[in-house]
Amino acid sequence: MYNCILLSDFLGSCFCFAKRLTISLCLLLFIGCEQQMSPNTITSISGSPFASLWYVYVPDLQETRATLIFQHGEYDNDKVHGLPHFVEHLAVRNANKHRSKAIAPHDGAWTTRLATYYSSSSTIPEEALANVLRHTQALKLHYDEIIAEREIVKREYEFRVRDEQARDIWTNTGAFIFQDERMRRDPLGTPQSIAAFKPPMAILSHRKTHQLRKGHLILLTPERWARARELVNTAWARASTQQHDMSQQPWSPPQQFTLPFTNGQLHQEITVPTIATSRFYLSQRTRVNSDVDVNKFEALILLASDFLQDRSAYGMVGALYYDDYQINTLDLNLEMISASDLLLTLNAKTSSETSLGDAKRTVLQFLDNLQFLDMPEPEFARIKGQLLARLRNGSDKLNSADYVFKALVGRLPVPDTDQILAAIEALTQDDLRNLFSQMVTSSRRATVFIRAE
Ligand SMILES: [Zn+2]
Repeated sequence: MYNCILLSDFLGSCFCFAKRLTISLCLLLFIGCEQQMSPNTITSISGSPFASLWYVYVPDLQETRATLIFQHGEYDNDKVHGLPHFVEHLAVRNANKHRSKAIAPHDGAWTTRLATYYSSSSTIPEEALANVLRHTQALKLHYDEIIAEREIVKREYEFRVRDEQARDIWTNTGAFIFQDERMRRDPLGTPQSIAAFKPPMAILSHRKTHQLRKGHLILLTPERWARARELVNTAWARASTQQHDMSQQPWSPPQQFTLPFTNGQLHQEITVPTIATSRFYLSQRTRVNSDVDVNKFEALILLASDFLQDRSAYGMVGALYYDDYQINTLDLNLEMISASDLLLTLNAKTSSETSLGDAKRTVLQFLDNLQFLDMPEPEFARIKGQLLARLRNGSDKLNSADYVFKALVGRLPVPDTDQILAAIEALTQDDLRNLFSQMVTSSRRATVFIRAE
């Protein structure tokens, strides 16, 4: 159960809430003021017992989705390489052991460089909440169960490496782009480090990192706040009695996440005889002005991203696919990774008839021309219109947990949906040209070409 996310960012907004302490144990019951919350707005609930609580009211959602995040991933791990991922596995095993039925099909857990995630969806909100909070329960596993889980983690490593033979190269690219050795650490660990996992070390790490009040809870639900609040209170009360101990040292939020910036270039080209088609990775990191208006900037990134993804002759996807089908699969992503960093990543497999050299030329030429972008106004309006329509009907990520994740990691304010929509309306081709001319410069680019034989 592992999902490789290079870096995610996270987002929030505020609401007025009062806090009340109840008699029993030290359960915090939090009471919200009854303000009307508009559908699909991410609301940060203050006064909750969690490190943070985010409520997203989605009236037409058929189920409740709960996600619990601990900001502890491989990046923060100073113990054996891969330990947070191992701890995640143990938490899941422990949670499953202590519930009556097998793991629900919509439950998931994964560990990235920055965080560990547990999620659960259910038409019964109590169930979704209980499922995610159960991962904080004290580990009550026998040593032989822990060792058995270590074998699973080892097999997962072997499976992943077989599946992605260029994994090391990609990880090195991450380290280069961020100029940070820790970014070279793969959350999966290495065969040597996995063999070195010891049960007491894992139990201690779980106890330190998986405390309820260190968790960020995100709730997407069709339930109104009054009801959701009750559900959260009940779930917290139940889960907190099954915690390790309630008297842990005070918790302080993790440091602001920043990474040194690279001005250099990286170009690697290697041959991997066992793969069928050539592929390449490209990363471009840009430092952005930190006092930028988050709504306007989000609008710009969304539009730039849609432009790049466009399948017409103007977009990058269009240029790559329609030019003799040079590329078979393409994964293109533009995102803010912290309050001051923008990252463009491209990951593509060439089609079997295309030479790697041809694909490479097309990609680089496209990027170099972006700063001169000039498309007919109706085309520009079409791309903008599609984006606006998607955001307005709520099918896009503005109402998902993604934005909360962004705020948590990047310490960014949560963009406001209405303001983003207004900002998109106002964008011009000039804005895109400016962004691209700052962002897509060959001096800050990492490319890795992997040639099939
Ligand atoms: Zn896993």
